[in-house]
Amino acid sequence: MNCPCGSGLQYENCCQPYHLKIKAAPTAEALMRSRYSAFVVADADYLSETTHLSKRKGNSKDAYLKSAKNTKWLKLEIVAANFDKVEFKAYYLGQHFQTAVLHEKSTFRLEDGKWYYVDGIFY
Ligand SMILES: [Zn+2]
Repeated sequence: MNCPCGSGLQYENCCQPYHLKIKAAPTAEALMRSRYSAFVVADADYLSETTHLSKRKGNSKDAYLKSAKNTKWLKLEIVAANFDKVEFKAYYLGQHFQTAVLHEKSTFRLEDGKWYYVDGIFY
């Protein structure tokens, strides 16, 4: 299948190796894309493990699973990305079947060669 992150690549050549922990996402943007894909495929383990330890409390695996299962994600658009910040728009199907958008600027942190999601501001 095409990778849910919208890269145009096949899932197995894009975000899947990160989900399977065959390799670690090399950039903040790659991690962000792989987390979006993880929401689409409901990989709560990956979402939990790539959340920075200091922020994991409020983001339990259950919460991730619920969120992933209850949201029909439509597409991801990267607005801007630099070393540790990624601004994106994630489109999903709203309650009344309208297209809704989550517009967020996320902050990531590189620790021991691995990227983690820290937090985000919403627009
Ligand atoms: Zn991907």
